[in-house]
Amino acid sequence: MKALEVKDLYKNYSRWRGKTTKAVDGVSFSVEEGEIVGFLGPNGAGKTTTIKCICGLIEPNSGDINIFGIDAVSDTRKAVENTSAVLEGNRNIYWRLTTRENLEFFAGLHGRSKKETKSEMDKLLERFDLKEKEDTSARKLSRGMQQKLALACALIRGTDLLLLDEPTLGLDVKTSKELRRFVMQLAVDKGKTILLSSHDMNVVEDVCERVIIINDGKVLADDKVRNLKSLFDVHLYDFILRGKPSLDEIEEYHEVIDVRYENNKTRLKVSLKDSGSFYRLIDHLRDSGMELEKVENLDTHLEEIFMNIVEEELGG
Ligand code: ATP
Repeated sequence: MKALEVKDLYKNYSRWRGKTTKAVDGVSFSVEEGEIVGFLGPNGAGKTTTIKCICGLIEPNSGDINIFGIDAVSDTRKAVENTSAVLEGNRNIYWRLTTRENLEFFAGLHGRSKKETKSEMDKLLERFDLKEKEDTSARKLSRGMQQKLALACALIRGTDLLLLDEPTLGLDVKTSKELRRFVMQLAVDKGKTILLSSHDMNVVEDVCERVIIINDGKVLADDKVRNLKSLFDVHLYDFILRGKPSLDEIEEYHEVIDVRYENNKTRLKVSLKDSGSFYRLIDHLRDSGMELEKVENLDTHLEEIFMNIVEEELGG
């Protein structure tokens, strides 16, 4: 079943002198139940605006949004009963309430009693290292703690769809890693559906199987990370050779990205088209008497793919 369907979504913002910003310019995508999908894009691409339209915080100019089959544009209230969002800047917690009171408040909003959610709250407080701060008012928490509390408040509502806008922003490396594991568990163990935006490619690469890349309010790519990787896989290899090879012949057949000589060794980074080129290069090195010390296949990272897609769009 589709947890979320967004179709032909448009949202304009009015600017000074009657000009408009097309923040979301015909965005369509869907997310299956239990999927974790990364939502990527440069600053101002339209991610937050899309997420705000989905959780009913702003009204789109046009387009359809369906959450578990419920029309979220005409029946926002009902649709968002099944949706929790953590927006940038910890906006969804109450600064005057304590950590625990915030959790109780958000559970209550969803019709869940203190008694019913007590053990769940304790687990979340433990999980996010907030137990010691349960009686501290939210405004006195560190930025990272506020971010964790915002996420805990979204989770205590127990909804099936989670919209996480930059959930690891402001978190230290350890907490960010814990949170990634936790997000994955939510999908795998509890079947939650998650749409996650982040500028941190490591987060997206770790957690998401599929990514949607947007720029200027338009979807540029929507595919499994695995497929995007094979599409953009440029077969980068790092060779460490003893001595100094003649580059002329190598450059004739292969794209040399970088060469460094150090301590009588050569580090050669090349981009090969296919495995045939790999063996041709090895043969060539052997025939010219070069001794190969090490060769390493450099994985294509999501960051390079993202840059490729966004720059291609800007260039074209
Ligand atoms: P970032 O990664 O920087 O958070 P984003 O992808 O979330 O960016 P949005 O915040 O959705 O992008 O912004 C999309 C565009 O809409 C930008 O050009 C932004 O300046 C504009 N915009 C966003 N909110 C408003 C608003 N309330 N009023 C006017 N323009 C807005």
